[in-house]
Amino acid sequence: MRGRMDPNCIFCKIVSGQLPSKKLYEDDDLIVFNDIHPKAPIHLLVVPKEHIESLITAGPQHQALAGKMLLLAPRLAREQGATDGFRVVINNGPGGGQEVFHLHMHVVAGPRPWKGF
Ligand code: 5GP
Ligand code: ZN
Repeated sequence: MRGRMDPNCIFCKIVSGQLPSKKLYEDDDLIVFNDIHPKAPIHLLVVPKEHIESLITAGPQHQALAGKMLLLAPRLAREQGATDGFRVVINNGPGGGQEVFHLHMHVVAGPRPWKGF
């Protein structure tokens, strides 16, 4: 695994395989799995393998990673069955509604109603 990890972080535990997840995609930098409490028919989380708390603590060294996360979204949404678009959301800090303090991008799609996005 590349970069930092936090032994108390739930997403680091998923990255390392200590906790299970429904993994949909993986490469050297990222993993993608289904959100455990989906708010829409398609609700994925795109998670860097490195423990970065949020965009607030991300730096210029993460520029390529951030671009990779964004550009992966259309492929993932399409593979999961989204036919007419999708939404991406990144919550940052308590004021941004972030609950898991390991950077992640929600990819949300599918027929409405959605619960909360
Ligand atoms: P945040 O509010 O931090 O942007 O979103 C955290 C998301 O992680 C929530 O949508 C929540 O349902 C999801 N989540 C929290 N714990 C787990 C877990 O153990 N496994 C999975 N797959 N998703 C989780
Ligand atoms: Zn982490």
